[in-house]
Amino acid sequence: MPYSPYFNPEYETLTRPELEALQLQRLQQTVRHCMNAPFYQNKFKELGITPDDIKSLDDVSKLPFTSKEDLRENYPYGLACVPLKDCVRLHSSSGTTGNPTVVLHTQKDLDEWANAVARCLWMVGSRPEDVFQNSAGYGMFTAGLGFQYGAERVGMLTVPAAAGNTLRQIKFIKDFGTTVLHAIPSYASRIYEVMKEEGVDPRRDTKLRVLCIGAEPHSEEQRRRIEENLGVKAYNSYGISEMMGPGVAFECPEQNGIHIWEDYFIVEIIDPVTLKPVPDGELGELVITTINREAMPLLRYRTRDLTRFLPGDCPCGRTHRRLARLQGRSDDMIILKGVNIFPIQVEKILLKFKEVSTDYLITLETKDGNDIMTVDVELSQLFTDDYGRLQSLEKEITRQLKDEILVTPKVRLLSKGSLTVSDEKKAVRVKDLRKLF
Ligand code: ADP
Ligand code: ZN
Repeated sequence: MPYSPYFNPEYETLTRPELEALQLQRLQQTVRHCMNAPFYQNKFKELGITPDDIKSLDDVSKLPFTSKEDLRENYPYGLACVPLKDCVRLHSSSGTTGNPTVVLHTQKDLDEWANAVARCLWMVGSRPEDVFQNSAGYGMFTAGLGFQYGAERVGMLTVPAAAGNTLRQIKFIKDFGTTVLHAIPSYASRIYEVMKEEGVDPRRDTKLRVLCIGAEPHSEEQRRRIEENLGVKAYNSYGISEMMGPGVAFECPEQNGIHIWEDYFIVEIIDPVTLKPVPDGELGELVITTINREAMPLLRYRTRDLTRFLPGDCPCGRTHRRLARLQGRSDDMIILKGVNIFPIQVEKILLKFKEVSTDYLITLETKDGNDIMTVDVELSQLFTDDYGRLQSLEKEITRQLKDEILVTPKVRLLSKGSLTVSDEKKAVRVKDLRKLF
């Protein structure tokens, strides 16, 4: 019998009213369960509400927000809603923007998490016949074990290669016949570069078919570049440790927005200043309430990630709402000469040029009282050593960047290997030296 296109058809294709009824029931249960944490008891007291006040999904707006700072202040176990003896694992976030936060899991939480990741992997066409390789770090980083259990749940043969050692990574891809790979986008590009150096042609010498890329912002242009280079379909994977890790939202075969699993989460998009919902379809901060977690449910968690709802039904048949590609974190937003700029806007322009690679770094500094932006980008191997050509390329990139971000950066084209890229960590795209003075 052919496989179903859905891993959990009973949940993925619920009608809107069915999905919302399930959400309400799970929300009410979660809110009552949260009262096991003194943190939420106090917050409810402050707001003068009780769990009984949550009568409809709209009542989510009555609930308190939870922030990264709340998790840091109550580090490590302050938000536990079950006794520690019922928890079987903890993970922490990567700590990209400060002290890592800790998240606890019961066995049921881990089972649900594996199911969510399996649902995502299945959605992009992974089947038990596939060989799945994970190049994320195993350990506290959720993308290691998160993808591992999800891929096993699908029934794939798994290769827990873990992070780094690119030559070994490539050897595994070839020797084990890896068809589905998970890599953060900056690392996917690195794998390709090393393949090229080693004379490995991904189309000829590997069976790679599907790539799951996530954990850091990346532009549509970067995705297309990765797809072209590696001869794969690449799907956007959105994960956040506080919600569990990977498996929160993922692209479907339509490659048009990421479905966020609404039987697991209630999703809001708010204005980070007024804390009110933005008009439907506008950019704002993603706020998520978990509705099926035991150890550490979180109410209205402020992710600081910026996105918007995509309108309309998805042709794939899944009824869970879609979010637009993440624009980046509010923390990543650069304010230069009064203009708001996201690194992903710079990336989008750079990658229009085949002559440059996906490795770039934005540096902000103050010179003679003026804030200036320098964009360093490595040349790709395609480039011929022609000085005149180099100059006109720099000029054209500068012009297009100015059109996009409204300030004129200084663009420097560097030879391959000039920028240090980590094999294991999320790429650093911005160095702000202004803060030092
Ligand atoms: P940290 O916040 O310390 O990096 P996590 O490892 O939990 O810890 O990473 C979650 C964050 O990574 C998200 O909040 C988001 O900013 C970023 N992220 C994850 N997946 C994506 C994605 N597909 N696109 C853009 N950003 C992503
Ligand atoms: Zn879809």
